[in-house]
Amino acid sequence: MKLKQSYQRLPEQLYHRCAPSPVSAPHFLAVNEFLGEQLGLNHEWMLSNEGLDFFSGNAKSTDYTSVATVYAGFQFGQYNPQLGDGRALLLGETINHNGQVQEIQLKGAGPTPYSRGGDGRSALGPVIREYLVSEAMHALGVPTTRALMALRTGDTVIRDRLQPGGILVRVAPSHLRFGSFQFAAARQDEEALNALTALAFARHYPQVAAELQTPQHLLKLVTERTAQLVAKWMSIGFVHGVMNTDNMSIGGLTLDYGPCAFQDAFAWQQVFSSIDTGGRYRYAQQPNIALWNLARLAEALLPIWPGTDDHKVAEAEAILRTFEPTFETHRNSLFAAKLGLREDHSVYQSTIEPFLNFLEEQSLDFTLSFALIEALSKDDRDRIHLVRSALPQHASLERYWNESAFEQGQWQGDASNPLIIPRNHQIEAAIESAELGSNTETSRLFRLYTSRPSLQDLSVEDLRGP
Ligand code: AMP
Ligand code: MG
Ligand code: MG
Repeated sequence: MKLKQSYQRLPEQLYHRCAPSPVSAPHFLAVNEFLGEQLGLNHEWMLSNEGLDFFSGNAKSTDYTSVATVYAGFQFGQYNPQLGDGRALLLGETINHNGQVQEIQLKGAGPTPYSRGGDGRSALGPVIREYLVSEAMHALGVPTTRALMALRTGDTVIRDRLQPGGILVRVAPSHLRFGSFQFAAARQDEEALNALTALAFARHYPQVAAELQTPQHLLKLVTERTAQLVAKWMSIGFVHGVMNTDNMSIGGLTLDYGPCAFQDAFAWQQVFSSIDTGGRYRYAQQPNIALWNLARLAEALLPIWPGTDDHKVAEAEAILRTFEPTFETHRNSLFAAKLGLREDHSVYQSTIEPFLNFLEEQSLDFTLSFALIEALSKDDRDRIHLVRSALPQHASLERYWNESAFEQGQWQGDASNPLIIPRNHQIEAAIESAELGSNTETSRLFRLYTSRPSLQDLSVEDLRGP
């Protein structure tokens, strides 16, 4: 199959043509058939040997129109002028059932000109993690890149130990990052910056009229989407883990599932990444880092921003100042909805923040604590029973809640929370079993996270923390 490839119409300094490298013995580990259908891919073909060869990199190199794209980025605050798709390849595009262009990318498809000494491959573990967590995020209503397939390569990769190799087939309207713009800006390459800006509008903000497709307007829209995204993350206890500017999507999608995780016992300063020793990307820091990253994007857009230097910097700063109120408005309303509280500007400080502090003091599970308050407020007996069974310290939570919020007349009783989130210990178990050859646990978790099972179909184990 030959996919359309818009990137090849971009200035050539932004990519290299590059075919995937073949693998020894490809197998499907998991296929998101529903997404395949939405992408208009032929179901039989996708699951055929020909489909398997195509997505594993084993088709003829002339069947591919793939490119590796270049970007730069601030990694843990340090600028790296030359990153890029070192283990990813953009296969090309399809048009989905809504008429939107969707890029299909392979992650782990072999070395590219941007591999910088890396092997261009992925271990199976991270592939399974991204497959499950990104689709769970989508099911939770969080903007994200999607996952079409997880594949086994039949090869071994060397990490801290020898591990089976995998490929993730990732899907998004574009994989453009803040870092894509930084790469062009560092070279004062206005042609590239204009091309990237046009692509960003076309893929992520297609409703914007041509005369409004300016860098100012792009920054405004990305600031708004990013503020909304981070508010969503906070409201489900998600920690991204590597908010480097090369992992920040220009469309406000969750991008790059590395050391990400959902909180079990709540802690404001929770970090999951072993390399994030300074806690730069801890839970509570995510809005500040998002804004810092947006400031780097603003700088990258300045070369094509009209006006005098003073004027454009003032304009950019004014846009960046909208981040905090936008973030707070969304965060406050998402958390108010979680507790079924009437939304006003003071409820976050008066009730929600103290509630979160209490969760931290008592090491209470973030997801289950909100789920229990919801079940109690609705007097949903089955749900109360199930959540209590999964949350050993439920009595202290119930006492706290009875003594505080209900008395303040803020409650309006339509709380809404996820009961199921992808938990690290569950994903670890699926990875372990997949490494031993079984796909069953990955499939089970995929259904659990994406299919909204009814209460009767859930076990305490599905809900429980580690
Ligand atoms: P990440 O930490 O996943 O955001 O990746 C940072 C940079 O390292 C990106 O440019 C990746 O393409 C590159 N990279 C990560 N792992 C590998 C690998 N195994 N081989 C080549 N490049 C890699
Ligand atoms: Mg990355
Ligand atoms: Mg990564």
